[in-house]
Amino acid sequence: MTNALQPDTASDSGVLARKHGLRLGIDIGGTKIEGVAIGPDGRTLAHWRTASRQGNEAVLEDVVRVARKLLGLVHQDRGIATVSLGIGIPGLVDSAHGQVKEAVNLSIRRMDLGPQARSALGMPVRVENDVNAAALGASRGLGLPSVAFINLGTGLGASIIRDGRIIHGASGCAGEIGHVPVEPHGFLCKCGQRGCLETVASGSAIQAHWPHATPPLPDMIAKARQGQADAQEALDLAIGGMATAVQIVGVSLDPDAIILGGGVTRTGPALLELVRSELARRGRASGFVKSQDLPDRISLAAPDRRIGAIGAALAGAVDDRDPSKRTQ
Ligand SMILES: [Zn+2]
Repeated sequence: MTNALQPDTASDSGVLARKHGLRLGIDIGGTKIEGVAIGPDGRTLAHWRTASRQGNEAVLEDVVRVARKLLGLVHQDRGIATVSLGIGIPGLVDSAHGQVKEAVNLSIRRMDLGPQARSALGMPVRVENDVNAAALGASRGLGLPSVAFINLGTGLGASIIRDGRIIHGASGCAGEIGHVPVEPHGFLCKCGQRGCLETVASGSAIQAHWPHATPPLPDMIAKARQGQADAQEALDLAIGGMATAVQIVGVSLDPDAIILGGGVTRTGPALLELVRSELARRGRASGFVKSQDLPDRISLAAPDRRIGAIGAALAGAVDDRDPSKRTQ
């Protein structure tokens, strides 16, 4: 567990930040909960990290405890009003109603997390899917109107941020590109289809195709460089899937930037270079692909453990511009 009162040089730009008081953000993961308090000027005034626990009751208790801890660390006598709490959590999230379903890592089948946290804490609460929150955190400070975030975690999916807001789509599945079937005779996916992107380029797929090391990708890259054919084959499959994910996002959203994040990207710059060279290779065969400058548009998310909590804080307050969308 750590805590600190620590200024953060990154700050929100524009008028929006000044309208806000203290924004709390809590990112709930399968093993830890990360909380941040962001001040009116966009600086991180406090953060707190603790182990997460399973089940509806424990999750609510922990959210309330972390929120109160953050408020205590910021010292409310500074006179900063608390305006909101944003929560990022895995699973199927209905942000409009603050409802979470199937957060299996936390043993939650269904929970009205937003309304429950709101009544316990007495502040507006917004709940977002954790990847969407991380995307918002990763896009912060870039000053770009549209950013896509491709999460290469256990699964594979993209989140879309436009003008500082998460785009959910009509049914909440905007960006679920992991379940685009790209190989009709490919591996069976848990969604019922065959050959989904998620079956080749997600963290769990890469591990399944290279069970010889954990994490698999750095070992796979090293062995491929040594000329080991099966490593090269597994690597080509994974990198090809990632490049396809970038292309899908590129043509469907045409965002200013595409950020690769999630556990798989801890492999670091070697991974980015491989995806870039695959996209460049495809560009050499197609003027259409080349014209999109995809290798230059992709980058890796900063390895900041607090990106999800910061994004949750931003998500919690962002709907000030649209009060009808706020969970009350
Ligand atoms: Zn699928």
